[in-house]
Amino acid sequence: MDYQTVIEKIYGKLQGLWGQGKVADYIPALAKVNPRQFGISLATLDGQYYRAGDAETCFSIQSISKVFSLAMVTRHIGDEIWQSVGREPSGNPFNSLVQLEYEHGKPRNPFINAGALVVTDRLISLYPHPKDAILEFVRGLCNNDDIYYDKEIARSERANADRNMALAYLMKSFGNIRNDVDTLIDVYCHQCAISMSCVDLSRAFLFLCNRGLNPFSGEQVLTGSQAKRLGALMLTCGFYDESGDFAFRAGVPGKSGVGGGIAAYIPGNLSITVWSPELNRHGNSLIGMEALECFTTDIGNSIF
Ligand code: GLN
Repeated sequence: MDYQTVIEKIYGKLQGLWGQGKVADYIPALAKVNPRQFGISLATLDGQYYRAGDAETCFSIQSISKVFSLAMVTRHIGDEIWQSVGREPSGNPFNSLVQLEYEHGKPRNPFINAGALVVTDRLISLYPHPKDAILEFVRGLCNNDDIYYDKEIARSERANADRNMALAYLMKSFGNIRNDVDTLIDVYCHQCAISMSCVDLSRAFLFLCNRGLNPFSGEQVLTGSQAKRLGALMLTCGFYDESGDFAFRAGVPGKSGVGGGIAAYIPGNLSITVWSPELNRHGNSLIGMEALECFTTDIGNSIF
């Protein structure tokens, strides 16, 4: 398969969509990003790498980090996390509060903000230095020690975190948050502000593609069964109230972030990350969604 030609063709074709989406502006530092950027990076399990466009430019991974935090918590407490977080699509926007009240403070899934906050809360209980531990974990996954937090984005989100604070306090009132809310929001805003490129992310998701085994270090990060479950959650919940549509169009597990990145993979085969900052109305990268649909269609391969 000539992946380089495939991704270059997609890169050329989709630039025509610039201007149709809108950069996230509820986090002021994200609004400053140049919208006209588009990168694609592909890593195969047999060690081939391909890239197009702005694949090496670092961006804010935002909710893609929710996969990393869930992996960190799952490897320590396993199924226990499912007592506090559900595993069903929410059908609601990522930052919605309404369902939480009806469902007694138990978030629908770990990829909406409420669920990710519970996961990060457990992570804080497990690690004495959670912010260092998250960076170390992500660096190990992509085999790159040059991964850092974008402090300006972390500060900007922290200063505009009223809704996430509301989610955390509501859940705390139901007994589903154990740590101090300020500490929780600080760690959460940092994990969302990790700065990575498409190249880094496509490498970091190879362990999921590889049944939980990190191909760089040889470490079994998750069991095969845990990796399967994480992928299933990405497929069903990775794009909030657009998860069904992404599965329908691209047919692979993926996770988006409001920085405009989407990490996706085909189990046993390859990991692909696309990034373009303009979002559609569900908060997912408009060009990124299109790119992944084109990719799986062009190569004639998906999980279905
Ligand atoms: N940091 C963002 C928030 O909490 C993450 C949301 C996202 O990427 N969908 O609002």
